[in-house]
Amino acid sequence: HNHIDHATPEKVKAAIAEDHIHTVIPRYENLEEYKKSGGYSALLNLRMNGDWEAVQQQVLDSGLRGLGGAGFPSGKKWGFVRDNAGPRYLAVNGDEGEPGTFKDRYYLERTPHLFLEGMLIAAWAVEAQTCFIYMRDEYPAVIEILRREIKALEDAGLVGEGFIDLRRGAGAYICGEESAMIESIEGKRGIPRHRPPFVAQVGIFDRPTLVHNVETLYWVARICREGPQVLSATQKNDRTGLRSYSVSGRVAQPGVYLLPAGSTITDVIAAAGGMAEGHSFKAYQPGGPSSGLLPASMNDIPLDFDTLQPYGTFIGSAAVVVLSDHDKARDAALNMLRFFEDESCGQCTPCRVGCEKAVKLMQADQWDQPLLEDLCTAMADASICGLGQAAPNPIRLTMKHFADEI
Ligand code: SF4
Repeated sequence: HNHIDHATPEKVKAAIAEDHIHTVIPRYENLEEYKKSGGYSALLNLRMNGDWEAVQQQVLDSGLRGLGGAGFPSGKKWGFVRDNAGPRYLAVNGDEGEPGTFKDRYYLERTPHLFLEGMLIAAWAVEAQTCFIYMRDEYPAVIEILRREIKALEDAGLVGEGFIDLRRGAGAYICGEESAMIESIEGKRGIPRHRPPFVAQVGIFDRPTLVHNVETLYWVARICREGPQVLSATQKNDRTGLRSYSVSGRVAQPGVYLLPAGSTITDVIAAAGGMAEGHSFKAYQPGGPSSGLLPASMNDIPLDFDTLQPYGTFIGSAAVVVLSDHDKARDAALNMLRFFEDESCGQCTPCRVGCEKAVKLMQADQWDQPLLEDLCTAMADASICGLGQAAPNPIRLTMKHFADEI
């Protein structure tokens, strides 16, 4: 729907002027509907006579961990932020820039108030003065929904005017890194900060800041309504909880699938309707390009936090991309490094120069593996943030599992 054939800047300008670009707002649950089904009663009860430590305990009991990719126990974060004197802020990371990730969008375009109520509960728990929502600008429908529903919350007296500050990102992947996001919210160029100090101590405008991903807050609201068992009751392969897998690539039905956290790639592909017709399973990206590629033979690993570390990778935000016999792992790995080269903020040399060098080396017919390994070590050891530290993963995993292609 935001579609113009062979778009040029002139055509886009003309189309905007003639109002040919429309954002289609999907059908979603608005404030009135959400309240009818008991929405915001948890928040109002807590505001009346709630005990933040009891809520924190519920969140800890559920096992909820940061679903932006880092996997830090959510309840613990609240304690760290509260340890620092106010005023405090809350920042929502809605940048969702990891290629293959679209779960936050999925929830926001359907049930925005579950997220908003979760955010207000977390804000209440840490006594935040303002909630900044840093939202991906490539989600125009989500931004419009949030504008409408934040206004509805203000009109209903559930939040004061300006308490929720909706900010638009500008398409930089690095602004999904929490300290770069904070720089961007402050109106500066989005580049990661050195840590310590951590953002829980020194965040937005140097104040203690609680940073959560959109989906994490969605679950905070559900935990407060349905109890910690909404997550903790699901067990599979010795793992507890649920994961929203964004599944794309060579599957029959790409989409977001809510599955037990102990699901393997076999389960994920089955949920997505199996492989696309004419394709046989070859490899998969378990959690964004930073996680690289694993071969189809490694199909019995639960795709959860901590379970992939022994294999040199991680689940991240659970962006699963499935490759088939029509794809080459080396092409996919090169594509990942090109992405990192584009998105490197340029602040530190191992990442800025390393990504560029890696792309050059990976374009050769035969990869110079010792040199690439040296480069990977320098990048992983000496880069400031996760982008440069994890960029070697696709290179290393391709050298390990797809040696015949390189
Ligand atoms: Fe920027 Fe890359 Fe350094 Fe991160 S690792 S600070 S993205 S140059």
